[in-house]
Amino acid sequence: MRLLRFCLLPVLVLPFMGAAKADGFELFQEKWKPVFRPEMREDKEHFQEKWKPVFRPEMLENKEGESFPVSMKQESPLLEPDLHVSHGGKASPRVAITLDACMGRTDQRILETLLSENIKATIFVTARWIRTNPDTVAILKSRPDLFEVENHGQNHIPAVDRPVSVYGIAAAGSPEAVAEEVNGGARAMLAAGFPAPRWFRGATAKYSPSSMTQIRALGYEIGGYSVNGDSGSLLGAAQAEKQFEKARDGDVVIAHINQPTHAAGEGVAAGLKALKARGVTFVLLKDAASPKALSAVPAN
Ligand SMILES: [Zn+2]
Repeated sequence: MRLLRFCLLPVLVLPFMGAAKADGFELFQEKWKPVFRPEMREDKEHFQEKWKPVFRPEMLENKEGESFPVSMKQESPLLEPDLHVSHGGKASPRVAITLDACMGRTDQRILETLLSENIKATIFVTARWIRTNPDTVAILKSRPDLFEVENHGQNHIPAVDRPVSVYGIAAAGSPEAVAEEVNGGARAMLAAGFPAPRWFRGATAKYSPSSMTQIRALGYEIGGYSVNGDSGSLLGAAQAEKQFEKARDGDVVIAHINQPTHAAGEGVAAGLKALKARGVTFVLLKDAASPKALSAVPAN
């Protein structure tokens, strides 16, 4: 009997001991479970340190993550440089009008207003737009006093040297492709008989810091702006006019001259007239700043 008791003791007790032990461990785990709570800063840092999410552009999910908004990306955010011209003072405020001719046609409402009101404007043209607008090209060339024509690229591809999508448009993606977009635009301008461009504005007007350095090394100033006049030609007429009226001494206004079917163009034309009526002096980028000379326009 004693022997039996001795033999039974471990049989009877150990399971309970085991259970107690297991319970204790589970309790311990429950209590100290390393739960990842994103709201806790230290947890986040620890988690990131351990599971540092490497950005691999070749991964599909990362490719999808590349889409707008660009600022969510882990790489340096794209830049949209600000640009002003020298002030004219209260008596004669100076404003630079810059109009992009991305592709497509010419908005005659805007072109005719510039001509009839004698309003100076800097027009950024692409090789694509030059090909399909020979009549407007001739008009721009015939009035160098009124129009400065600058480089908006070859194929209207964002001048960003890594594979990103900006507003749904795939960027050039490499320094070589950025160079081709910039140089191709200049080649088309020279072939059409325009003077060598000194300013460059990429499609979407966004750049990576390194592509901005590259574009400057190619001999250009970056065509930034300070007032968005038509939000990519997507504003209504009244809204676009209102945007133009926001321009003050030293501002550089951006809008589009290639969307004749959009309502925005009507507002751009009205806004130009309103600025003139206010006594604004319209200046060209080449006169209002001193860009570096174009070092070399590569021959094709
Ligand atoms: Zn454009």
